[in-house]
Amino acid sequence: MAMEKNEIPVGSIIFNPSTGKLVSKARNSEISHNDPTAHAEILCIRRACKKLNLKRLDGLELLTYLEPCDMCKEVIKSTRISQVYYLFKNNNPKRKTILNPKFKLIKNNNENLLKLFFKKKRIKD
Ligand SMILES: [Zn+2]
Repeated sequence: MAMEKNEIPVGSIIFNPSTGKLVSKARNSEISHNDPTAHAEILCIRRACKKLNLKRLDGLELLTYLEPCDMCKEVIKSTRISQVYYLFKNNNPKRKTILNPKFKLIKNNNENLLKLFFKKKRIKD
């Protein structure tokens, strides 16, 4: 079905290894969603987080057709998914990687918002 829509035919599922229950499933939808981040793994993670009303997916496992690209690997790390399985090696893993991102120094008089955020958080906690 994905191939008919010209989508790269990659599918992913997230499941609970303790119960064997399926939590979410998704297929690559970059073209149909007009979204270069709509990889199967990321859509599957979004659905699982929404369904479970959680930010992280500790203890769950992800099975995907193709070895995740660098973008998906970083997202998977953020979710704390405990194990990833893939069926085929990715022969083009650098496709979504920016090779030379550059730091841009912007001068302003305001305090760095991130510093401010964490300073306030530390005072609260
Ligand atoms: Zn990906």
